[in-house]
Amino acid sequence: MPARRILQLGDPLLRAVSVPVATPREAGAVFEDLRATLAEFRRTHGFGRGISAVQIGEPKRLIYIEVGGRAYRLRNPEFEFQSGEKFELWDDCFSFPDLLVRLERSVEVRLRFQSEAGEVERLEAKGAFSELLQHEMDHLDGVLAIDRALDGNSLCTRAEWDRRSGFVVCHPPAV
Ligand SMILES: [Zn+2]
Repeated sequence: MPARRILQLGDPLLRAVSVPVATPREAGAVFEDLRATLAEFRRTHGFGRGISAVQIGEPKRLIYIEVGGRAYRLRNPEFEFQSGEKFELWDDCFSFPDLLVRLERSVEVRLRFQSEAGEVERLEAKGAFSELLQHEMDHLDGVLAIDRALDGNSLCTRAEWDRRSGFVVCHPPAV
């Protein structure tokens, strides 16, 4: 299965509300393309952990994730729990890889989804895995990280972010 083109910010399809996928069979080919597309993105950009089907032009409720040496194929995922406790982070997205967004996500989440065997399974996550799941779940409803920017200082180009991170490392604030 080939890597597919990743839709970029401005493409109206990224705003679509994705539709449920009835069977594992229907999901299979899309998951294979998502796997190949994620691998290609990592090869060319050096980062990347997850992708949703709408980002390759398939507005279906499918998310593919590789974290901690494991692959997750989530069909029709739904939140069962999102903690009220939040944390702030700089988020990024394959659909605008040169932009970072300061936003807030729940520390912990729990999802229910349908497995490749067609059974209901659950996934609990904290911290970095949790915010990744929330990012991909947003894609299924046409929500992008930029929509969650905390304020006017919450958008930063990757080049500027890297430059500032370097500055902080080289010039730690006096304590
Ligand atoms: Zn994204």
